[in-house]
Amino acid sequence: MAVLCMALMCAGSVRAQESSAQRREPGTVSFDESWTYAGNSAIHSGTAELYLASEEAGGGRKNVTVCVNAGHGTSGGGEAKTLSHPDGTPKVTGGTNAAGEVYSIAVSSGTTFLDGATEASVNLQVALELKKLLLEDGYDVLMIREGDDVQLDNIARTVIANNCADLHIAIHFDSTDSNKGCYYCSVPDNGTYRAMEPVASHWQEHNRLGSCLVQGLQQEGTAVFGDGTLQMDLTQTSYSTIPSVDIELGDRASDHSSDACARYARGLKAGVDLYCSAAK
Ligand SMILES: [Zn+2]
Repeated sequence: MAVLCMALMCAGSVRAQESSAQRREPGTVSFDESWTYAGNSAIHSGTAELYLASEEAGGGRKNVTVCVNAGHGTSGGGEAKTLSHPDGTPKVTGGTNAAGEVYSIAVSSGTTFLDGATEASVNLQVALELKKLLLEDGYDVLMIREGDDVQLDNIARTVIANNCADLHIAIHFDSTDSNKGCYYCSVPDNGTYRAMEPVASHWQEHNRLGSCLVQGLQQEGTAVFGDGTLQMDLTQTSYSTIPSVDIELGDRASDHSSDACARYARGLKAGVDLYCSAAK
């Protein structure tokens, strides 16, 4: 069953639509071809899952839906390409795909930790832990991936989040091996990029959410890389119409034990609390 859903916006300012017109039911969320930018996705046969907090949760239901997106985990995702920007302009920074690229890999396979663990599996471990913490405290949670594979590319993940969540957090680790700490991919300080929709209308809230997540991670004991930001022109950012961040929790050399994953999740949860309390 496809769920068309929209929650109240914790920042209170972005959503033009009326939440009363939307369904908010727990369950499987299928990709809807009519959604804005849906036509740019190459891989979208998979589904996401929406979980609602119970009335008994923590301080009661918050009516805020957090999209938890465990990065990578789409087999075949490296062979498909999608438009880097919705308007077909080239990327302004490097990353998995080079600056100047009009097309980007639909979903890359991610990196591998020095001990052989895959980034995709560790991202998932943190995502599942974060889901639990959010639900316990009254947040609703949209899970993009809950197993090793979901057939949703980065555009599909973003479009589903745009239509069914209030915040979008993509969980990643970087491919360096210096154990450098966490940071978020901030919106490039580039006039052309920041003038392109939907980036123009949303880049400030992306950066504010990213900054809250890094602050939460730091509060819970995760080291921070530099000032906690690295400017990146990402597919996710280029297509997001809700506050949306790619958070890099560390790199290939970082601790990814169960305790560490629980700590990352606590940090991300603290960051969501910071963002939502500041937005009230
Ligand atoms: Zn990654």
